Amino acid sequence: MASYDFNAPRLFVDVPLAAGARIALDRGQANYLLNVLRLKAGDAVLVFNGRDGEWKAEVAVEGRKAADLVCAERTREQTAPLDLIYAFAPLKHARLDYMVQKAVEMGAGVLQPVLTRRTQSTRVNLERMRSNAIEAAEQCGILLIPEIREDQNFDKFINGLEKDRLVVFCDEDAPVSNPVEALKKTLTEGGNKATKFAVVVGPEGGFVDQERALAAAHERYVRVSLGPRILRADTAAVAALALVQSVLGDWA
Ligand code: SAH
Repeated sequence: MASYDFNAPRLFVDVPLAAGARIALDRGQANYLLNVLRLKAGDAVLVFNGRDGEWKAEVAVEGRKAADLVCAERTREQTAPLDLIYAFAPLKHARLDYMVQKAVEMGAGVLQPVLTRRTQSTRVNLERMRSNAIEAAEQCGILLIPEIREDQNFDKFINGLEKDRLVVFCDEDAPVSNPVEALKKTLTEGGNKATKFAVVVGPEGGFVDQERALAAAHERYVRVSLGPRILRADTAAVAALALVQSVLGDWA
């Protein structure tokens, strides 16, 4: 990511971006730029909307509390999302915040809360997930905000998956063996390389056998062990996504 300018602040804005476009900032954003970062008229900010790439914009101050941004030039082309659904049993507040941020940093394209039989926390605040996802994307320099889907019952989720989507089922009960090898092998099984993925991590209480069996019945499926330790679900998220990325290689 050589062209990423770490010095300019980055903001996600949900409006079309083009040369000369004027972006009205909401109060929170204006406050952050003018009062927290103490930016002045003409200072540079990088903006992205998940569709039009990244743009360098300049601050145009309107009084003491309001500011607009004016788009100057495109600094990076839009990148394509990885077709990777990260499916997880929702956790409680702070740990869910953490998990969402990490999943975004690790390149998940879709965040899908799934309600398993042992899921403890069934209240999912999608707005909060979205603001965590935006914050993580702003910070880590990616140009996409993952799609955040409504929570869904685990069985429905698995049954609704396309046949050619490779389900990477993280299971602490799986025999410990090299997960990279297992993943590489299933990736090209049957001669056609998988291009769609679903990484599935269970709740603190783990999956029940009925859920394991349902996932195993999916056409394209691999059960992976993340090592001989039981990881917390938020740690498993990072480990599983790093594993998948290491095989898919999004640094290539
Ligand atoms: N059933 C366990 C804890 C589950 S950990 C217990 O109560 O003792 C939460 C989730 O993280 C699991 O459902 C699994 O998806 C994932 N996970 C944790 N450790 C793992 C490991 N070593 N290998 C694969 N997945 C793991």
